[in-house]
Amino acid sequence: MIPATVPYEKCRFCRQADVPELGDACSDCKRRINCPEAGDGCAVEIGSDTYPATVLRVTAHTIVVRWDKEHGRGLTTPGAGGREMRFVKNRHGRWVHRSYRLSLGARSSRRDPSF
Ligand SMILES: [Zn+2]
Repeated sequence: MIPATVPYEKCRFCRQADVPELGDACSDCKRRINCPEAGDGCAVEIGSDTYPATVLRVTAHTIVVRWDKEHGRGLTTPGAGGREMRFVKNRHGRWVHRSYRLSLGARSSRRDPSF
């Protein structure tokens, strides 16, 4: 039996837009990763935890973000959190601030309950 329709996978970053292959990024997320702009959603990773944040400023060598205020159930107020961080690209091509890593593309939120 060949199914009449093929289910699309969700974008690996925003988990909303449909993409043809598992693990793909949608075109909006690809733009936010390759060419981030002020106002874009992003995420700050520390250890196994992830916090949603918003891009404030982008220069050739830095990205400044402000953390979002989280309300639970995936609701956030963009840029309303208190923390602001300036990320620079390290020699591996990753955006870092001390031990924090910046994940461009989409907001996400995750706390590892084992810590
Ligand atoms: Zn996406």
